[in-house]
This record gives sequence, C-alpha cells and structure tokens, in this order.
Amino acid sequence: MHRVTWVLGNWKQNHRPAAAKVGAEAIADGVAEALSNPDPTAGEVRVGIAPPYLSLEAVRPYTRLDDTVVLLAQDCAAQDEGAFTGEVGPAMLRDAEVEGAIIGHSERRAYFHEDDALIAAKLRAVLEGGLVCVLCVGEALEARDAGEHESTVISQLSGAFSNVGPELVNERLVIAYEPVWAIGTGRNATPEQAAQMHATIRRWMGERFGSAGADRSILYGGSVKPGNASALIAAGEVDGFLVGGASLDPTSFLAIVRAAATTARPTA
Ligand code: PEP
Repeated sequence: MHRVTWVLGNWKQNHRPAAAKVGAEAIADGVAEALSNPDPTAGEVRVGIAPPYLSLEAVRPYTRLDDTVVLLAQDCAAQDEGAFTGEVGPAMLRDAEVEGAIIGHSERRAYFHEDDALIAAKLRAVLEGGLVCVLCVGEALEARDAGEHESTVISQLSGAFSNVGPELVNERLVIAYEPVWAIGTGRNATPEQAAQMHATIRRWMGERFGSAGADRSILYGGSVKPGNASALIAAGEVDGFLVGGASLDPTSFLAIVRAAATTARPTA
C-alpha cells in the first residue's frame, strides 16, 4: 500500500502574522511546482504548516481543507473548554479551520514538562476531535548512547496510546520520530538509524493495533535539509518529514517537499 507522504513545517515560536503571511504565500505559490513530477512510489503527498496560534489566521487563506496544504497547530489542549487559562482545545481549533495538531513535541516535553499522561490525554482529545494528530516521539542523546533508544521510544508510544482504542487509529494519526539530539542541532539521524527506528515503531503499532496501526505514516524530524531529505527517504520506512528550522525558509522547505515527492521508495 502507498502511505501518505507528509512534509510538515513546524515554525515554533517564529513568524508573527505579517511574516507568517509572507512565508505561507511563498509556500502556497511553490507547492504545485514542487509536487509536479512525483515518483509513483511516493503516493499522495501532503504539505502542512504549523504556525504559532496567533498566526494561524494569517496562514489560513493559503491552506485549504481537503487540499494539498493543511494548517496545523503546534499543540492542543486535552479539553475543549473550561477554566484552563492559556489553553486552546480541539473545538477551538476546528472553529478556526485548523485541520490538525502536533502533540508531544520534545520541546513541550522538556521545557513545559509534558509527561506521558498529559500527552495521552491530548492525543485522545485531538483524535476524538476529528483532527489530524502528529504524535512526536524520540530519544535523548543519553538514551541513544546507552543503547536505550528503542526502549525509550516504545515507552513513549505505550504511554501516549494508553487510552486510545483501535477505533481512533486511522489515517488522521501520523507519527513523527524526532530524536532529540537531532532537533535544531544540524546533526540528523543517519538514514539507517531513521529506517531502523521507523521499523520498530511500525512493528509496535502493528502489534498493538493490527494493520490499521502498521499502516500509519511515520515521519522523520531532526535537522532535515534539502541536502539530506532524499537519502532519508531512499533508505525506506520514512514517509516524509517534520521540519523545524528549514521550514522557515520557503525555498528550503519547498526543496524538501520536492525531494520527498520525487524520491523513489524501495520496494518491499
Ligand atoms: C522540529 O522542531 O520538529 C524539528 C525537527 O526541528 P529542526 O528541523 O530544526 O531540527
């Protein structure tokens, strides 16, 4: 089967509305060309932009429901409304015509102390809310050096899915493997490291949820650039990218989109 190839830009706390509008317009203008010569093994390719909350409105005109470029939030509360100062939940995102949310990013885990229980609640809320959910997992350098990278990621997966039944596991669920040591460091995982971890995640999802779990798109994130995107895809198992720094430059981001769309996947 062809899994959807996703290339998602996480703008983090960058691009206030005026700059977000310029960036989104440039991406929207270039995306058709970037997707114009796809490799047949790439399947459907979808592009997404995750601006800060206050810039969602500025980006919205350049994204369209059911179109190629989707609009994502960088986080989502576990509840729809109530006395939760500072929070934005699934219902509010839907009202703002946001199609999905990133959950469990390592920066949220590290700087905002999000634990497995909170991420599990957010994951469930986002999926129940009918949004695309990009669940991030990934090990710190110490875990990788200690040979505990796979057990760390499996533990994050079992925490996140502790309260999710098979009825919520469908095409709206996307997983992003983002080794913490590769995020914003310029040091990406090797294609072999990414392929190996993606296979581990896919096996775990298959054991837990059957083919609906095993068929999910698994993205790689961590210092993806135009120069390393094709090699990461070509090693197999990588169904696209979650891109931080390089997504702030439309030319670089579109080059990554082009690489993801035109690189042949190995046949199984
Ligand atoms: C990210 O923040 O999800 C990310 C992968 O960042 P970068 O591409 O800058 O490493």
